[in-house]
Amino acid sequence: MAIIEIPPKAGRILRILQENGYEAYVVGGCVRDSLLGRRPEDWDITTSASPAQVKRLFAHTADTGIQHGTVTVLDDHEGFEVTTYRIDGDYEDGRHPKQVTFTASLIEDLKRRDFTINAMAYSPESGLVDEFGGMKDLKERMIRCVGRPEERFGEDALRMLRAVRFAAQLGFELADGVKGSIHELADNLRMVSAERIQAELVKLVVSPRPHWLRLAYECGITAVILPEFDRIMMQRQNNPHHAYSTGEHTLVAMQNIPADKVLRLTMLFHDMGKPEVFETDEAGIDHFHGHAAHSEILAGKILRRLKFDNETTRQVCTLVGFHSRYPKLSAYDVRLCAYEIGGRELFDRFLLVKRADILAQHPDVIGQKLDYLKEVEHIWQDVKAHEDCLSLGELAVSGSDLIAEGRKPGPRIGELLQALLMEVLQYPERNTKEYLLAMSREM
Ligand code: ATP
Ligand code: MG
Repeated sequence: MAIIEIPPKAGRILRILQENGYEAYVVGGCVRDSLLGRRPEDWDITTSASPAQVKRLFAHTADTGIQHGTVTVLDDHEGFEVTTYRIDGDYEDGRHPKQVTFTASLIEDLKRRDFTINAMAYSPESGLVDEFGGMKDLKERMIRCVGRPEERFGEDALRMLRAVRFAAQLGFELADGVKGSIHELADNLRMVSAERIQAELVKLVVSPRPHWLRLAYECGITAVILPEFDRIMMQRQNNPHHAYSTGEHTLVAMQNIPADKVLRLTMLFHDMGKPEVFETDEAGIDHFHGHAAHSEILAGKILRRLKFDNETTRQVCTLVGFHSRYPKLSAYDVRLCAYEIGGRELFDRFLLVKRADILAQHPDVIGQKLDYLKEVEHIWQDVKAHEDCLSLGELAVSGSDLIAEGRKPGPRIGELLQALLMEVLQYPERNTKEYLLAMSREM
């Protein structure tokens, strides 16, 4: 029999509920991940107790989703979602249930869940409750719906994207009928909120298999939520630098970069502007002049459409816009580029983006481009080690220093500082107050 090691705090919550006459189990993702030998992110608890009853038993709780029957029990600042057994009420075409009904039956609660591998519960007393063959599907590595796929996808269209997301996270296959149903119903994803789509898309792209976005494409999901991706899947690039279509190159590039939200999204968008600037010369070679700027604009549009936060959007757009820049092999040009990108952290990321992009290009050009990149990296390490000035904030003089020298406040001050920065980016040793004030006096 499966034994799941429940962390002490979650175990205590189960015990308290049970000692007070209620049923209680850990459920869903944590059971699935434990059985797979993965470390669960969080431990969700399902119980026959009503939210009011849960609140009476624990000193510290928060009403995080009370309309869906969820109370968060806090134990020393760690939160555990405790949800009353429920049946989801009417769905409004592919949206979240409008209302939920509580039930006394664990099996009814498990039945509302999306996939068999997510529909198992466990308690130390009762062992594993696996009514829908979740264990078998874990062994067979299958994403299978609880019930008929077309019904379940019809109730909540987001489940289609979740199916692909779990497949990519776990390396599982979509069971018979799942792919076909998605094909048929993918259009319903139009009715799902951007926030919910964003959350699943991010989990997919930061998974160990970001290139399984291809599965979302094959099922007709990206055509609805990311049609710009379908366009690059069809964009050829007959060009000595490239061995794949723009879309395939993008999928490989995503695999070549660490599993970080900003980095993976940057690779996803970095060439999306290519179809807009596509040109073929007399020799039959394809060109994409200025594609980075177009990709940047497109990335901004898409990220806003999917309601990404401003900081993520800013970083991704900056990296996309800079990705085709090749700094010259001089400390000056590397400093200038780091300044323009907007700092050390982003320049570190820019180098990862360049590496991932190069590694997804034609085998004939990879070696030479990597040699170049290694030199840039080397120069950059030096620049960082010397703590060279890379921004107005790091300049040895400030606007108030110039005003103290008798300059009138106004836009001219900003221009002067900018000129001093350009000098210092070229000659970092000149970043001293004496030198820069003397220089400003002559300007
Ligand atoms: P993760 O580790 O990514 O959090 P998870 O399985 O915990 O994976 P959640 O989105 O946190 O996924 O949902 C928790 C559980 O709630 C799922 O395991 C599943 O049983 C159920 N669930 C979540 N979303 C849906 C949905 N849209 N339709 C049906 N059941 C769902
Ligand atoms: Mg979860």
